[in-house]
Amino acid sequence: MAKHIFVTGGVVSSLGKGLTSASVGLLLEKRGLRVRIQKFDPYINVDPGTMSPYQHGEVYVLDDGAETDLDLGHYERFTTAPLNRDCNFTTGRIYLKVIQKERKGEYLGHTVQVIPHVTDEIKEAIRLVATDEVDIVITEIGGTVGDIEGLPFLEAIRQFALDVGKQNCLYMHLTLIPYLKAAGEAKTKPTQHSVGQLRQIGIQPDILICRTEREMTPGMKEKIALFCNVQTDAVIEERDKEFSIYEVPLSLNENKLDELIVQKLGLSKARPLDLSEWHEMLHRLRNPRHEVSIGVVGKYIQYKDAYKSIYEALDHAGIANSTRILVRKIEAEELDNNSTDSALAGLDGILVPGGFGYRGISGKVEAIRYAREKEIPFFGICLGLQCAVIEFARNVAKLERAHSTEIDPDSPHPVVCLLDAQHAITNLGGTMRLGNYPCALKNNSRAAGAYGKELIQERHRHRYEFNNQYRESFQKLGMVFTGLSPDSKLVEVVEIPSHPWFLAVQFHPEFKSKPTASHPLFNAFVAAAIKKSTSQGA
Ligand code: GLN
Repeated sequence: MAKHIFVTGGVVSSLGKGLTSASVGLLLEKRGLRVRIQKFDPYINVDPGTMSPYQHGEVYVLDDGAETDLDLGHYERFTTAPLNRDCNFTTGRIYLKVIQKERKGEYLGHTVQVIPHVTDEIKEAIRLVATDEVDIVITEIGGTVGDIEGLPFLEAIRQFALDVGKQNCLYMHLTLIPYLKAAGEAKTKPTQHSVGQLRQIGIQPDILICRTEREMTPGMKEKIALFCNVQTDAVIEERDKEFSIYEVPLSLNENKLDELIVQKLGLSKARPLDLSEWHEMLHRLRNPRHEVSIGVVGKYIQYKDAYKSIYEALDHAGIANSTRILVRKIEAEELDNNSTDSALAGLDGILVPGGFGYRGISGKVEAIRYAREKEIPFFGICLGLQCAVIEFARNVAKLERAHSTEIDPDSPHPVVCLLDAQHAITNLGGTMRLGNYPCALKNNSRAAGAYGKELIQERHRHRYEFNNQYRESFQKLGMVFTGLSPDSKLVEVVEIPSHPWFLAVQFHPEFKSKPTASHPLFNAFVAAAIKKSTSQGA
């Protein structure tokens, strides 16, 4: 039977519950246990797919097409736990299920209530991932203890221990120990209050993870233990990591967290920890031999979470190439004819990520023109491919006002347009082309060379497509279509072979990159950037 760890957070948001959950997942996997991780998000959207990255950061897409919270990206990057749509539930999705059941008459005669009907549905969602092949399920509860919206989830995890036995459940609570400069002291009171709130709803945490800027003294740990009713060795320090998020598991291990979990849950199958692969990755990260500057040209640039997986995938390719990646974040809206040259000067590579809507499009097109003309390695992703096609249409094929119909429905040259299947769709939530689809790569293409194979599977999240009417004419002008859906109907990869490295993809390779297994296209892009930077220096 699977055992359970429930991760909650207190005091403030953004404490890194996702990273901590992912790190715990890694440590337990590296002790030979089979782990699953899931997240509950207390907001009412059915999934984050309809939310702007300004509100919620990147929307992370899984193989099965689920549009999920970006913490699932951490889970995938740190662990090998398979994820699917059962790994992310929101309040909206839980309520939708309850309301659909009510309309079907499944609760006939009963008043439908938060307890037990909503909490039952939440517990059912936990059981969905706790299958026979799993030793341990980590369930992260989004939000902060004390939020009204989070209450049904906390109530459900409280009940869950009654259902499966307390000995099979661990409650892990993340808190903040703020350091007050003026007082010259770290304060434990907010942690006491936050644990007090949890205890009021009937949850006594077993382990406290304390986010802190400075080292915690034994006295502080003892005080927290006493006031919060936990063992002193279960007060775990999680110090801020300035160098890399991938160091978090190491510090949790140094504080003996994995051993504590193994003991408390009686995980007799656990082996000694083997973090050799992780250490090797960190060694490469700490000892780069080159350095390249990569420009990321986007419209959500000031929000560090909006392109999370892109930045991570670049770092992973840096690790694989023993190279430090310096990312220059460039606001697409600020690029125009006059400013592009100076804003992009000195870059070794330019990446245009995905996005929606008209804002920033002309700046992205300008950046791509610059990359194409100045022979700077260029990598386009999703909207990045669409902008590359628009740029090529306008500046090489001389099709004035060429555009995507997403932005200009009346364009005389709709080089990017709606998929047939998308014409009839009126609802925006969950209706894009989502998740894994196969793609056949042309042999001898740059893409096939990078992957080392000709049939790949990548994750998608888009509505619009390259317009096949332009395939032949563009090909004559030097843009080649090196990746297609197996029926040849949809363009997935475009390249300009005469350019040192110009490649754009309709899918999202960033979602399949891990620190210990970087993505082949990001690898090849970074390798091209290194080549550019070293040839310049020579
Ligand atoms: N807005 C574009 C489309 O829907 C691109 C989407 C994306 O970049 N994820 O096709």
